[in-house]
Amino acid sequence: MLPTSRPSIGEEELKEIKKVFDTGWLGLGATVYEFENKIKEYLNAEHVIAVNTGTSALHLALDAVGIKEGDEVIVPSLTFCASIQVITALKASPVFCEINPKTLNIDIEDAKQRITSKTKAIMPVHYCGNACDMDALLDIGRKHKIFVIEDAAHAFGSSYKGKKIGSFGDITCFSFDPIKNITCGEGGAVVLSNSDRAEEIRKKRLLGIDKDAWHRYKGQRKRSWFYDVTTQGYRYHMSNFNAAIGLAQFAKLDLFIERKRSIIKRYNEQLRNLEGVQLLEWALNRVAPFSYIVRILGDKRDEAMDFLKEKGVGSGIHYIANHIQPYFQKYNKPLPVTEKVCNEILTLPLYYDMSDDDVDLVIKSMTEFSKKVTVNEPQG
Ligand SMILES: *Cc1c(COP(=O)(O)O)cnc(C)c1O
Repeated sequence: MLPTSRPSIGEEELKEIKKVFDTGWLGLGATVYEFENKIKEYLNAEHVIAVNTGTSALHLALDAVGIKEGDEVIVPSLTFCASIQVITALKASPVFCEINPKTLNIDIEDAKQRITSKTKAIMPVHYCGNACDMDALLDIGRKHKIFVIEDAAHAFGSSYKGKKIGSFGDITCFSFDPIKNITCGEGGAVVLSNSDRAEEIRKKRLLGIDKDAWHRYKGQRKRSWFYDVTTQGYRYHMSNFNAAIGLAQFAKLDLFIERKRSIIKRYNEQLRNLEGVQLLEWALNRVAPFSYIVRILGDKRDEAMDFLKEKGVGSGIHYIANHIQPYFQKYNKPLPVTEKVCNEILTLPLYYDMSDDDVDLVIKSMTEFSKKVTVNEPQG
């Protein structure tokens, strides 16, 4: 069975891991800093803070801008539940908004309508790697004095108007979990330009420990064992071990992007005219693709999944809308577009190591499915 996603890992990753083993320093250290610097250079960013997951990155970002109880954060309901859990973890309220069904990205007009005096942040998600309209979002942020915290878990390597996602904007959060554009095994990063806030996030990722403050304020450089705990912190730092995997993966990023773009190009060409299948809009020359999602119309999505499974093609649903999740009922309001799209989306296999034959099997199976349902139920 073809999986929907799979990391591409091998000898290169093992070689980097071995280097870390040989130093005997597994935790936060030189390899993490090297990984951070690589990303900083690549994105043309001011500050990159590597952490243990993308979820931690989002949590730290919201915490660092002061999101707290009573605050509201506008977020699309159609996203991974991690985007929402970090809001509720800080006792703030997620305000769910709609998406544009053509891209699955945030519906900015709808989001605007949901701004209140309690709104402190808006969290766009660059779905499948395709960038949201950042000019419009940052404009709203400035106008209403709210932070734009980008959930860029899908979009490491993507661009917007000639700039890498992460090189502009307020705060951008990436994920390097096993199936993201590159993986660290598990990992994430917070990227931003504000130096004070970056300093705060650096402390928060390691239990609020500020080794420098004590030396700065008390002028006691000799006593290096001393440290101050100056803020609420978490144990969210990345380890050398994970950064080692990330370094090897980073070296392959361009290859990953190129191959996945070419698979999508072929999917788009071959699936475009299938009855009952609606493609998303792709900015193929700017996207570092994360996943490939189509919409199956006419209430046939689950049937499509069963059919594909019989043909040896795995498929998935990314994601189940969050406003209908049991834990988030307190924040549930009707979102008709999201509810409809959530029943149509289908994630098809997309990963670097897919062969051309694998891609053809997906196309052939989708074509057969489309023919089967249109023969059974002619239009009109
Ligand atoms: C993967 C993902 C996250 C969380 O990242 P982890 O590294 O898995 O914690 C957050 N938001 C979205 C949209 C994601 O896909």
